[in-house]
Amino acid sequence: KRNQNIGWKVECSYRELPETFYTVVEPNTVSSPQLVLTNDELAVSLGLDEKQLHSEEAIAVFAGNEKLEGIEPIAQAYAGHQFGNFTMLGDGRAMLLGEHLTPEGQKVDIQLKGSGRTPYSRGGDGRAALGPMLREYLISEAMHGLNIPTTRSLAVTVTGEPVLRETALTGAVLTRVASSHLRVGTFQYAAARQVVEDLRALADYTIQRHFPEVKPEPQPYVALLEQVIKRQASLIVNWQLTGFIHGVMNTDNMAISGETIDYGPCAFMDSYDPQTVFSSIDVQGRYSYRNQPGIAEWNLTRFAETLLPLLHEEQAEAVKLAESKLSNFARIYGAEWLAGMRSKLGLFNEEEADETLVKDLLAVMKDHQADFTNTFRSLTLGQQEEWFHEPDFLEWKGRWGDRLQRQSEDTQSVEALMKRHNPSVIPRNHRVEEALQAAEAGDMQPFMKLLEVLKNPYAYTAEQEEYVNPPEDGTTFQTYCGT
Ligand code: AMP
Ligand code: MG
Ligand code: MG
Repeated sequence: KRNQNIGWKVECSYRELPETFYTVVEPNTVSSPQLVLTNDELAVSLGLDEKQLHSEEAIAVFAGNEKLEGIEPIAQAYAGHQFGNFTMLGDGRAMLLGEHLTPEGQKVDIQLKGSGRTPYSRGGDGRAALGPMLREYLISEAMHGLNIPTTRSLAVTVTGEPVLRETALTGAVLTRVASSHLRVGTFQYAAARQVVEDLRALADYTIQRHFPEVKPEPQPYVALLEQVIKRQASLIVNWQLTGFIHGVMNTDNMAISGETIDYGPCAFMDSYDPQTVFSSIDVQGRYSYRNQPGIAEWNLTRFAETLLPLLHEEQAEAVKLAESKLSNFARIYGAEWLAGMRSKLGLFNEEEADETLVKDLLAVMKDHQADFTNTFRSLTLGQQEEWFHEPDFLEWKGRWGDRLQRQSEDTQSVEALMKRHNPSVIPRNHRVEEALQAAEAGDMQPFMKLLEVLKNPYAYTAEQEEYVNPPEDGTTFQTYCGT
């Protein structure tokens, strides 16, 4: 078998699904692939030999020149609501090489992004440019460092072939690792085709792969819906607590596993404003920071609709079941958000007025255009922000101080709790852009340095200090997807 020195243990269980869910594809072969970077730490956790990652065999896989263990790559079919409009889609520039078995016995997708056209490419070229692939690598690894469920990045290679956008860009392929690429949109695809047995096969596959514990339940598909709602609610809480704005929460970009997926136009908020949007195409603010929980709930409603034929024989009963599960979203989200906010403020126990305390802080932060991350960072370290002398903040701080006094934990425990929940460093847009520009010009050093500090954002190390400042003009940043 090929590639065995690296330690791959690959199969493709997805191909046991009805054929409508995928198409066998051939990656582009590229003339002179070169490795830009590999994720040795991730490789080790996957049971791969990190010393072999730079071998010719490994590079051939990462560039799409060689199959994994001789398994035929596939492109997955899915549909999705893109900015609210339903469309049949599929992997237009991604290919699943196979599912690798980790030492813990977990199955993970090994996927190439940017490896050429598929039957789902529509007008696109199936290619990717170096900048956006490095951006996904960096931000997904930062998310992992922040303890937020996410797809991971194993390698980036350049293809040696240009990608034509507004200008000619360096072509690249990202090797992505995900617990799966099943999406809300995969279920929408099945539902749109109206073959209930296909839908059931997909639901059973999903349960087998991600939620085996619901199998013995009397209503396993209802339990599946419940679990997906829980994971999604908890994912969005994680985003809100760190100021992460996904930017393109289309239903095809919502992973059933509850991992963050699709790092096109995402960005972290600097100054706190709930209406913040970074994506150049999101002119209505559909995917703004404050809309993320509501959009997740909307997406989950679309998911529940696809499951109706499986939930109950009687349509009306099925709807009732779906509605009762969906109605839990707001409660689960709200409770986890408040719990997370309590931790950010060093609160161990619960008091009735905590929600008001949190919301009042956010209101003051908004009024002063306070930096989201650094406000909590400074509260953690007992340091000053420029606006901390303002009367409305001082009034709030008095109440917070009294609140801390009413719990029994000492100052050290409070600081430790806050350090675990308030990152010292996030991938600030201006620093990310700077690192990507250097990388595109052939200098990987700023990128590698930034990547390193983002691995342990809760560590509060001295090396992080140079990355904590927000940009001087915080308002102009925009992201673009699809490059
Ligand atoms: P996204 O907005 O990243 O979720 O992508 C939406 C859809 O467009 C997905 O089906 C992608 O596979 C497809 N797509 C994005 N970029 C390209 C490209 N360069 N070539 C072909 N398909 C693409
Ligand atoms: Mg996508
Ligand atoms: Mg994308």
